[in-house]
Amino acid sequence: MNDVNASHYNLPPPQITDQNRPFWDGAKQNRLMVLRCEGCGRHRFPPVPCCKRCLSTHASWTEVPGRGTLWSWAVIHRPYFPGALVPYQVAIVELDEGPLLGTNIINARDENMRVGAPVRVAFKQIENDLTLPVFELVD
Ligand SMILES: [Zn+2]
Repeated sequence: MNDVNASHYNLPPPQITDQNRPFWDGAKQNRLMVLRCEGCGRHRFPPVPCCKRCLSTHASWTEVPGRGTLWSWAVIHRPYFPGALVPYQVAIVELDEGPLLGTNIINARDENMRVGAPVRVAFKQIENDLTLPVFELVD
């Protein structure tokens, strides 16, 4: 089992930019936000400026329920950053709406991880101004 919480999250913080700030602001409010294309309705993340389907540059941030499936993962055993506590699970989650999200899986045993496993979002406050969307396996 592992967990990501303020007491032992010693990884470098995400780079918050004008392009991804609504994602991080949403996380602070326990809301998972992705871009939704105003041309074709496709959801996308990360927040690239152009839709891959219809090439529209018009999009708006929208909240999604945070349900999806485990697309891939790795268990990190070696601390690549000073002070990082290992092991922890780094994963790619495919949201039901389509986008792939790089994230951490919490509260899961390695033997329960499998491609296609259903997951749901959880929010971990790391600092006063930083909350991470992470995921947990759904029983
Ligand atoms: Zn589109």
